[in-house]
Amino acid sequence: MCLKAQSSQGAKDNVKPKNLKRLQAQGKELNANIVNRHTLVVESTSSPLANHIVTVEYRADGTIHARCTCPWALNGGVACSHVIAALERLANTKGRTLSFWHRKEDAERQKHRVLYLEGLRDGEGVWITSRGGHTFSEN
Ligand SMILES: [Zn+2]
Repeated sequence: MCLKAQSSQGAKDNVKPKNLKRLQAQGKELNANIVNRHTLVVESTSSPLANHIVTVEYRADGTIHARCTCPWALNGGVACSHVIAALERLANTKGRTLSFWHRKEDAERQKHRVLYLEGLRDGEGVWITSRGGHTFSEN
């Protein structure tokens, strides 16, 4: 089966969240329950009756690949509040805190560990810095 997503001609600027700070604050409000190392259930922002499933893959090069069941993610959007909530939750289990950045330069300036949450295409991802914790090993 080859079901290609319909790509519109116009620039797709809406795949990245505009306000990462607000999104991160929103993500902090959401309950994220860890099912296993790669899977979390995160409550929906839009409906108190709904949950979203987030799966997270950590690559050796510091790239993170995340999927979510919400409409934003299904439309190619990166870093929805559920993914952010899930990543925060996983980081918290290691005593670490995350910050999210649009630009690599901003992330690198923090002098913390830098991760990259990849998007559907190059340049559509979001940079993450991870601070705190006693160990730098990711496992
Ligand atoms: Zn989502």
